Amino acid sequence: MPSGQYKLEAANKAEDEIMSIQAPKGCRDIFAEEAKAVRYLEEQFSQLAEVYGFKEIRLPTFEHTELFLRGVGEQTDIVSKEMYSFTDKGGRSITLRPEGTAGVVRAYLEHGLAAEPSPLKLYYMINAFRYERPQKGRYREFQQFGMELFGSENPAAEADILSFLDSYFKRLGLKDCELVLNSIGCAECRPAFHAELQSYLRKEKDRLCPDCAERMERNPLRCLDCKLDSCQSVLADAPVPVDKLCPSCAEHYAEVKELLNALKIPYREDPKLVRGLDYYTRTVFEFHADGIGAQSAICGGGRYDSLVSSLGGPETPAVGFAFGVERLRMELEAKGIELPELLKPRLQIISFPETRAESLALAKELRAAGIYLECDLMGRSFKAQMKQANRLAAEYILIYGESELGANELKLRRMSDGEELLVARAALKDFLSQ
Ligand code: ATP
Ligand code: MG
Repeated sequence: MPSGQYKLEAANKAEDEIMSIQAPKGCRDIFAEEAKAVRYLEEQFSQLAEVYGFKEIRLPTFEHTELFLRGVGEQTDIVSKEMYSFTDKGGRSITLRPEGTAGVVRAYLEHGLAAEPSPLKLYYMINAFRYERPQKGRYREFQQFGMELFGSENPAAEADILSFLDSYFKRLGLKDCELVLNSIGCAECRPAFHAELQSYLRKEKDRLCPDCAERMERNPLRCLDCKLDSCQSVLADAPVPVDKLCPSCAEHYAEVKELLNALKIPYREDPKLVRGLDYYTRTVFEFHADGIGAQSAICGGGRYDSLVSSLGGPETPAVGFAFGVERLRMELEAKGIELPELLKPRLQIISFPETRAESLALAKELRAAGIYLECDLMGRSFKAQMKQANRLAAEYILIYGESELGANELKLRRMSDGEELLVARAALKDFLSQ
């Protein structure tokens, strides 16, 4: 992996003005092996998603800022602190997407998908942008995979989504991602609960951190999952939403848990789990991984029955989640789970100036049949080409000299044991495809 810093010498600049170009803070370059691992995660995700009946949606990288103000919520950390927003040349306020759900809902409404038969099931694989302090597991550009299921009020919707996640993590070989579950109620039961929590918090205001002291008035629910021990000790006896659910929320939550039991998906209930975004109702969940340190949440999601209508659409219940691909990879690495390695070349063709054209033509033909092979593009000596074949761990080599020009049979050398095999030119494709 290249590591040196790239220096660009701007014309007519003195030595001390050489500009060093680096990726912006919190952004990463992804090289071959990691790119391959990410591609594998994408393939597994999309294959399983299709099996569950979800269809892919590809979204714009940026949206009107207004969408996130309304769709994520002005009180959230994402909107109040973390957005990459700018004014474009037409004077519009634009924001690089900090998450996927708002864009999916925008597309759902814009294309009239509410008129399609329910449930409508979509999945996405996106990069997302948040202006955060970069640290392990936290970047300014990162990748999320997510799903949204529209149109079902039934607890089976949560169960299906969680069944998908459980299968996906198991398929990757992750056995101990912990599902943490809670219910935070609905528009019916929440106002009374808010008031009760607020009056509890107001009495303790002096002992809360400055963030919570502020959140307490606008969004008291968020105080419940403050990460500071000092706040958690204040909150030890605070009322929690799950104890104050209205009968239909309580029944819904009980059914979600029943279905999870039937699906043999283990979970831990955490009455203080709330999600950072304003739009959640009833079920909220996270998956935590124990191998990746402080940023242990790899996945967050839940039900958001009021988001579609709050963005101007019809009343539409919905369930969704998103997980962070970088954190998922860190967990796989921490658990020593190996993803498929980079391919090694099946063949390296060693050529000479007078055989270059013909050997490139052979390479083209074999590659068209999907065979990974390498050939010389540097005008290297025979010895240097052999060295390259060893470095790349090619399985076979073919020395394409003058006597090979137009020959009907070609001699392959198997690098593992030096064994030589004569193969008819016409049979080469089949031989190397095996
Ligand atoms: P956190 O508590 O870590 O800030 P969050 O609640 O902001 O997470 P969500 O908005 O629910 O995260 O996003 C879903 C997932 O996306 C997270 O569980 C995490 O795996 C990943 N994620 C969020 N922010 C980042 C980031 N800055 N860098 C890398 N991954 C991230
Ligand atoms: Mg965050």
